[in-house]
Amino acid sequence: MAEKKVTKIGVLTSGGDAPGMNAAVRAVVRTGLYHGLDMFGVMRGYSGMIDDDIVPMDSRSVANIIQRGGTILKTARSAEFMEPAGRKIAYDNLKKRGINGLVIIGGDGSFKGAQKFSNEFDIPCIGLPGTIDKDIAGSDFTIGFDTAVNTAVEAIDKIRDTADAHDRLFIVEVMGRDAGYIALHSGIATGAENILIPETKTDIEALIHSLSEKEKRKKLVNLVVVAEGEKFGGANEIASIVRQRLPKADIRVCILGHIQRGGSPSCLDRLIASRMGYAAVDCLINGTHNVMVGILNNTLHYTPLDHAVKAKDKISDDWLRIVKILAS
Ligand code: ATP
Repeated sequence: MAEKKVTKIGVLTSGGDAPGMNAAVRAVVRTGLYHGLDMFGVMRGYSGMIDDDIVPMDSRSVANIIQRGGTILKTARSAEFMEPAGRKIAYDNLKKRGINGLVIIGGDGSFKGAQKFSNEFDIPCIGLPGTIDKDIAGSDFTIGFDTAVNTAVEAIDKIRDTADAHDRLFIVEVMGRDAGYIALHSGIATGAENILIPETKTDIEALIHSLSEKEKRKKLVNLVVVAEGEKFGGANEIASIVRQRLPKADIRVCILGHIQRGGSPSCLDRLIASRMGYAAVDCLINGTHNVMVGILNNTLHYTPLDHAVKAKDKISDDWLRIVKILAS
């Protein structure tokens, strides 16, 4: 049986917000309009699909947003969409408008929802990786990561200035509940002495040893970059252990928090968002359905949604070696 032609596309942003989501929305809407399709914005992720908060989008509705952080479509987490009954309501709301293709910009949770939805109903879904965590396999980049990591680098550079002035040990916490990429990249880029991430078991004895060894050499300025999902529970927990073990150390904790989500997207995030948004509409038009669009080795790459939700990106051993070798 021939597949139905996609004529009306809905686009939504779901899960945690990430800088560059707006650039992706703009690319999806303008590519769809270029091909003569009707375009719709679904507000607040899957919640808007269930609440019937769906608006037509024209070229002007995405004007002047490529440089803006956040998402004009808003984002949310929807418990109702986890249930079959919620997804049926969402489907009925799309169906009554004739929407027959969806682009979901979000993380792996959003893709799990998309995968279930596309299995249950005749609406093809395309996922775009929009998450600051970069924890998705099938793409070298995720929309938002580059901006978030640059925000962290800028902040940590400033912290190093004040740490240096006072000979202090700073323990800086960056985002990453399950993934350590922001900590790893920002830590390497700022010359952090230690980087603690969820992917590796924190060796507290090795940390204490390295800090006390530096204390002996009178290297008093130290930066420890910690991902929030690090095994002991983050920067405050690590600081209290180090305080007990090294009572002479002058220790401060800084938790960067939500500033990492906000701000104007970097050039890289705008570019990958534009490229992925364009490719998502191409997929819907040419029948490559239920995939996540990624970029691998500077080439567009399509991972089936069911694979995208299972595969986890693994931090390569090279990175971990680089941390060890450079942080002396
Ligand atoms: P981030 O990486 O920023 O956390 P995410 O997309 O992984 O983004 P989640 O909160 O995990 O964020 O998922 C977003 C939404 O996707 C959920 O609120 C829910 O509506 C839907 N979703 C997640 N998992 C499932 C699932 N197993 N079945 C159906 N829907 C799901």
